[in-house]
Amino acid sequence: MKEKKIFITDDNKFVIVCPMCQKEETVSASEYKDANQAARIKYRCRCGHTHSVLLERRKFYRRETCLHGVCIGEENSMVGMLVKDLSLIGMKFEIENTQDFISVGKKLFVEFFLDDEQKTLIRKEAVIKIISGLLIGAEFCNTEPDDPTDSMIESYLIP
Ligand SMILES: [Zn+2]
Repeated sequence: MKEKKIFITDDNKFVIVCPMCQKEETVSASEYKDANQAARIKYRCRCGHTHSVLLERRKFYRRETCLHGVCIGEENSMVGMLVKDLSLIGMKFEIENTQDFISVGKKLFVEFFLDDEQKTLIRKEAVIKIISGLLIGAEFCNTEPDDPTDSMIESYLIP
């Protein structure tokens, strides 16, 4: 049986589902904080069934990249960019030149191709968190484990 991967969310919790009774339990990850990347844990459900899962801290999965793309702001203003690093919750990128539509707190769409075999197109809405010269840090507005784009990013980051 394939081991189930569980991601710790931003509030440092994770949801575990017992494969026997399907009961969901929200667990605090703080007691597993020493495992800085992935931890295999055994969890005992109240029904008595014990199963093991692989706990992943998605925040720490950041991969350095060199991916070309564009960011698209209001009224379809657009600028070329280079994605410098990518994680499941956001990215860092360098724009070609300064743009009026790039400012902290603004939302925009980022579009780029992964350098995987399929050259997967990623298009996500992001909010700008930090600007340092031409270097921008942005967080994705939403991340859904079931979203096909997010699962492509996930398998790109965690092969
Ligand atoms: Zn159970």
